[in-house]
Amino acid sequence: MKRIAIIGGGISGLSAAYTIEEKRRSGTPVEYVLFESKPRLGGVLVTERVDGCLVEAGPDSFLTEKPWAADLCTRLGLGDQLIGSNDAARKTYILVKNKLVVMPDGLMFMVPTKIMPTVLSPLFSVRTKLRMAREWFHPPHKASADETVAEMVERHYGPEMVDMLADPLLSGVYGGEATQLSVRAVLPRFADMESKHGSLGRAMLSARKKMAAAPKAPARPLFTSLKNGMQQMTDALVANLDPNALKTSVPVELLVRELEGWTVSAGYQSDQFDAVIIATPTPAAASVLQSADENLSAELRSIQYSSSVTVTLGYDDKVRRALPPGFGFLVPRSAGRRMLAATFVHNKFPHRAPADRAIIRCFLGGARDEQILQSSEEEIVQIVRDELEQIINLRSEPLFSRVYKWRSAMAQYSVGHLERLQRIEALRQNLPGLALAGNGYTGIGVPDCVRSGTEAASKILAEMGIWSAA
Ligand SMILES: Cc1cc2nc3c(=O)[nH]c(=O)nc-3n(C[C@H](O)[C@H](O)[C@H](O)COP(=O)(O)OP(=O)(O)OC[C@H]3O[C@@H](n4cnc5c(N)ncnc54)[C@H](O)[C@@H]3O)c2cc1C
Repeated sequence: MKRIAIIGGGISGLSAAYTIEEKRRSGTPVEYVLFESKPRLGGVLVTERVDGCLVEAGPDSFLTEKPWAADLCTRLGLGDQLIGSNDAARKTYILVKNKLVVMPDGLMFMVPTKIMPTVLSPLFSVRTKLRMAREWFHPPHKASADETVAEMVERHYGPEMVDMLADPLLSGVYGGEATQLSVRAVLPRFADMESKHGSLGRAMLSARKKMAAAPKAPARPLFTSLKNGMQQMTDALVANLDPNALKTSVPVELLVRELEGWTVSAGYQSDQFDAVIIATPTPAAASVLQSADENLSAELRSIQYSSSVTVTLGYDDKVRRALPPGFGFLVPRSAGRRMLAATFVHNKFPHRAPADRAIIRCFLGGARDEQILQSSEEEIVQIVRDELEQIINLRSEPLFSRVYKWRSAMAQYSVGHLERLQRIEALRQNLPGLALAGNGYTGIGVPDCVRSGTEAASKILAEMGIWSAA
């Protein structure tokens, strides 16, 4: 019987465990033990019910175009629990000079593809609009080395586009800054479009034309989630695993590579395994691998993480009727606020709030405001309430509030990330029976984490010769 240790019980580790569990149930001679340092499994996927409202502490949904999370839900029997975002109400604002300005129609991520809405939008200055027109004639350009998202966007559209769109959009997804994140790791499609077409606008339009010419697939919502919240997915994973294999409140301290297999030291005990999957944030992976391979450990430690704070406020019907329509707003750095973004949850996922409730979920922290973690929950709620009053004139007392602090939870793919991943992979190959999964490598979103956990488990099973991905 082959034995596999999985370290970390977030969505990445649970996905790895479930892949092995499926093989075990179908008769493959394999067993696993999953070690989680905290008392609960699920990592940052946490859902609460408060006053009839569904409150997400971490992720609230995932991108529909990335199939792995929805596929996993279907395998878990949750296919009928998947719900889409209410895209009919999709409208996002940007805070400009203390006013909410709607993002113009036709913006694809930050690339304008429709002329009139962009020309008429008060979001951009005349200077930026002229840059957008000139961008159309941008010659193909293949950057010789990796660069930041800010450098690339500025080359095409100027600095205002970085401040108004690139930075707020990236801080929403990565808790990071356009001036730090690698364009090749974070927006590989943009780097590709620039080298082939030059103009990002022309490249996007040509992609759209190709899609329009293809046979029509039914329209899909931008975001997918679960009826009872994101934790429904991790709860279902846990319910489908062997309960004796799940060790909570057991932090792994050290991994030692033996002649055959690995010794895992956790909670004053050691155990032998044929293989190990590390599915933690990379700083924790670095620390358990310190004695197995110093160089690998150093590479893993060099991947930076930022922290995030989410604040959910619940309000009554009167507030709901007074709030702007749409999914919410983004706050550019130049606005000088601590809030990075706010979601009007009752519009994005209407069934998450009763008809007489409004839910506003706000994001703070990120790479530029780690200090927010030092503030008490009361102070954080006060910051958010003050800023909501200044931005949308919201003075009412919330019916409830919840604050969740996520320390070092969001991996930052800085310039050179892809080269670092190559070095990590080369070092990993010297350590047979080791696989790495999680949000520090090839995608930070939930679907990418599901994929990374599943692939790590498949790789280990294939390496052991007890299962072939083919
Ligand atoms: C506030 C927030 C909002 C987000 N919103 C979205 C969103 O809307 N959509 C989306 O797709 N993604 C979103 N993300 C990103 C996504 O949720 C995460 O990247 C993903 O869930 C990470 O999963 P993971 O299993 O890799 O890591 P984690 O969830 O961090 O799990 C890792 C686990 O490893 C454990 N661990 C660490 N060290 C050890 C050790 N030594 N021994 C044992 N266990 C250990 C930890 O306790 C933890 O439980 C969001 C993230 C955050 C924080």
